[in-house]
Amino acid sequence: MTGHIGRQQAIDAVTEFRAPPVVTDAGESPGDVFGTNVFTRTVMQQRLPKTVFKSVLSTIEHATPLDPTVADVVASALKDWALEKGATHYAHVFYPLTGLTAEKHDSFLEPDGNGGAIAEFAGKTLVQGEPDASSFPNGGLRQTFEARGYTAWDVTSEAYILENPNGNTLCIPTVFVSWTGEALDNKTPLLRSQQAMNTQAQRLLKLFGHDDVASVSSFAGAEQEYFLIDRHFFFARPDLMASGRTLFGAPPPKGQEFDDHYFGAIPERVLAYMLDTERELFKLGIPAKTRHNEVAPGQFELAPVFEKANVATDHQQLLMVTLRRMAEKHGMECLLHEKPFAGVNGSGKHVNFSLGNSTQGNLLNPGDTPHDNAQFLVFCAAVIRAVHLYGGLLRAVVASASNDHRLGANEAPPAIMSIFLGEQLADVFDQVAKGGATGSREKGTLIIGVDTLPDLPSDPGDRNRTSPFAFTGNRFEFRAAGSLQSVAGPMTAINTMMADSIDHIATEIEALLDSGTEFNEAVQKVLQEIITDHGRVVFNGDGYSEDWTVEAALRGLKNLRTTVDALQELEDEDVKSLFARYNVLDNRELASRYEVFLEQYHLNGNVEAMTTLEMAKTVVMPAGIRYQGELAATAASMKAVDLEPDMSLLTRVSGLVSELSSTIAALEEAIDSGDGEGELAHAEYACDTLLPAMLEVRSISDLLESEIADDLWPMPTYQEMLHIL
Ligand code: ADP
Ligand code: MG
Repeated sequence: MTGHIGRQQAIDAVTEFRAPPVVTDAGESPGDVFGTNVFTRTVMQQRLPKTVFKSVLSTIEHATPLDPTVADVVASALKDWALEKGATHYAHVFYPLTGLTAEKHDSFLEPDGNGGAIAEFAGKTLVQGEPDASSFPNGGLRQTFEARGYTAWDVTSEAYILENPNGNTLCIPTVFVSWTGEALDNKTPLLRSQQAMNTQAQRLLKLFGHDDVASVSSFAGAEQEYFLIDRHFFFARPDLMASGRTLFGAPPPKGQEFDDHYFGAIPERVLAYMLDTERELFKLGIPAKTRHNEVAPGQFELAPVFEKANVATDHQQLLMVTLRRMAEKHGMECLLHEKPFAGVNGSGKHVNFSLGNSTQGNLLNPGDTPHDNAQFLVFCAAVIRAVHLYGGLLRAVVASASNDHRLGANEAPPAIMSIFLGEQLADVFDQVAKGGATGSREKGTLIIGVDTLPDLPSDPGDRNRTSPFAFTGNRFEFRAAGSLQSVAGPMTAINTMMADSIDHIATEIEALLDSGTEFNEAVQKVLQEIITDHGRVVFNGDGYSEDWTVEAALRGLKNLRTTVDALQELEDEDVKSLFARYNVLDNRELASRYEVFLEQYHLNGNVEAMTTLEMAKTVVMPAGIRYQGELAATAASMKAVDLEPDMSLLTRVSGLVSELSSTIAALEEAIDSGDGEGELAHAEYACDTLLPAMLEVRSISDLLESEIADDLWPMPTYQEMLHIL
């Protein structure tokens, strides 16, 4: 507890809580608002001439270029719709490499030449925008003097209206490229990777004898974890404001040890927030589905229904923005950082991933017939090969300063990338390795002859929470992604890795068929080869155990503990060639990402180090000295009346104050020292020198916090922030 004024304000906010004014219209059901702020296909169909609608649809579904003559018609319909919805401005929304959402707003109004103004929105404004791009990180892709960056309408993602009490904005999802066409954002590579994966998947499906093969997409369902704290606390913590996490704070007497929060009753204030947030998400066409308490106090989860990866990615960004915005409205702050509180569970964003199309369905769904099963096993094998070959890349795409605090901290998957298949599926692959699977463990179904593959039940039943990449019945769940991250990076990597593996498999099967091998035998051969070469990446045991670290090393799996280690994977020749081969990122584009991510890491380290220093000097130290002074004054006045004071507390506090002083000096010295040349050196310095120096300061401060009188401790404590909600 503290004497901080924020405590009383937060307590008042909770005890005097009344749900904010009715947010729904009377009698309204969630279905009524769903998608009302979205320029959906249905709206387009109603508002566009038939031929124009068809042309747009074809662009969306077959990724054909947008017919320029169509753009004007669409723009005009879009403008009318937006004005009817109360929009005054439009914005091209894009996703720069910072992982954030960027938008530039323009008014619809243009001078009419007669002293008035008219609403204008031409096709070319819809299709292309030109934000001054020089202030977005580009890792050397673009010099500032050639600062032209273009945003181009991403027709596959629907335009929507963002509401504000003072006026609405029409938002147009875009890609962001340089004038030479190089990708400056997270979305362009994602779209390219979808295309690469689609091409290879269609090729493989045709080998399986399907004549009718619709375009294959990858799907993503991202489970978002987050913390809520009262806003009075947030503003009383410079560390939370500057870096999104607490850089100080003694462990609370009551943490999460009772496991009493997980799936517990949701506090009323939080529930009101969730309902309000979900309604906003519904209006934006985001299918929010499940909500519950998470493991840590103050931690919650929101999972939307899965969608095509590119749409899910946009929705995911919008969801994060909405979670934050609505929290403000409800007097709370939504913390999306992966580890806002040390010693308390962090937040992840599990990315559920599958691939499929309208003709063959979910390709990671075990089928009913042996033939379907063979197809399923082949796509599963592609995942196994992909994760084994490019585990380092998977680690790299979830690497960030904030996610480092979570990965490998025995609450999230380790930094070692392995696959969990479940006992049954693992058993099937074991049999494949031995020369042909004939039975599935559970059902014991025997299928003989040409159909050498077993019948598989659709629900493998078991779960493993410690694996970074787990099969969960009809999809894989990538659990290493962090709560703050965009799913674009992970999905781009997964799509590209899958394109490569599926390409490999199709090529092998084609070669075997050419040499006269019968199809089923060819499939069996390829499966056997993959599980033999790449089966080492499958691990069904406890990913948190020390044994696994040892075992994984023996298996040759990488254990990239920090962002600095992980990001260097982007320099790996195999990774460069992978992205270049499938036209997802050329070497320059990839190199620019490496630079930008390293820079983000080191900037983050600097901000945290400076914040730690400042708080230690101006908040913690003064509290320590005041308490020391009080104790010393008491001792002196006791002596004056001939009483013998007990000096133990004063001695302890004085000791801590002087230790704090020397750790502060060390941190200051580390900040002031040079950190070498180049982004890698800067990042290494942040990781190896600044972080440890910050931790030294913190550990002394946390000891002081548990000694100092409550009314003298100047910051909200963990106990307060986590439990007063
Ligand atoms: P759990 O907590 O058991 O992992 P949740 O219900 O919290 O499950 O989240 C599961 C997520 O997986 C949801 O976003 C859901 O839409 C998504 N999902 C379900 N099926 C698929 C699929 N075939 N492909 C991709 N994502 C899926
Ligand atoms: Mg879940």
